[in-house]
Amino acid sequence: DRSSDKVRFHDDYAEEFEDVATNVFAPIYPVISEQIIDRCNINSGICIDVGSGPASLAIAISKIMVGQVYAMDFSEKMVAIAKKRIDSGNLDEKVIPVLGDVHDMPFDDNFAELIVSRGSLFFWENVPEAFRQIYRVLKPGGSAYIGGGFGTAELKSKITREMEKRDENWSQTAAKRLERSKLDSFKKALLTAEIGHYEIIEDESGFWILFRKVE
Ligand code: SAM
Repeated sequence: DRSSDKVRFHDDYAEEFEDVATNVFAPIYPVISEQIIDRCNINSGICIDVGSGPASLAIAISKIMVGQVYAMDFSEKMVAIAKKRIDSGNLDEKVIPVLGDVHDMPFDDNFAELIVSRGSLFFWENVPEAFRQIYRVLKPGGSAYIGGGFGTAELKSKITREMEKRDENWSQTAAKRLERSKLDSFKKALLTAEIGHYEIIEDESGFWILFRKVE
């Protein structure tokens, strides 16, 4: 079925993405995690990284936030890679790999202070349902920070140069993901999910959707 095709696509991509995350994207995660902590004004509690891939963002957040970070992905291969990286960084008490789909998150209601997600929403089949799930799992007063980006404009251009060496179509694919019509469709999805209060941060490095669960 379609959903297992999707998982297979990410399974097949897992090793290549680990290489990219480790060798090209690495400097963006500490920058993005600082921005998240700052903009959400949070520094302790439970965090979930949705579509965490090799867990680079989850690991960066675990270094600056007090509490546990769950690195959730629906690809078994990605979760295995995340586990390997968490173990080799001796972070197994702080970062917990979890197999799970954003459309049916394996967490109780009102569980997490912070839910983050980078570069995953472009692949979600039903974005309103994903937003509903994220909202359900957030604690009242908790924040979601979801989007795609490279930290700063400088990092983005540096990464673009690197990635173009690997794949000549990379800029085109990246630009498509970040284009305005996509952002409009995410805004519609927020409304469908009945999340009326949100903030969009859009700059040369990417875009992020922020919302908070009402207390
Ligand atoms: N967030 C990581 C990062 O920034 O390095 C990985 C980004 S990677 C481009 C997208 C990830 O989203 C993949 O690991 C993929 O398996 C995951 N993903 C896609 N759809 C998902 C879904 N429905 N539920 C959970 N994870 C999903």
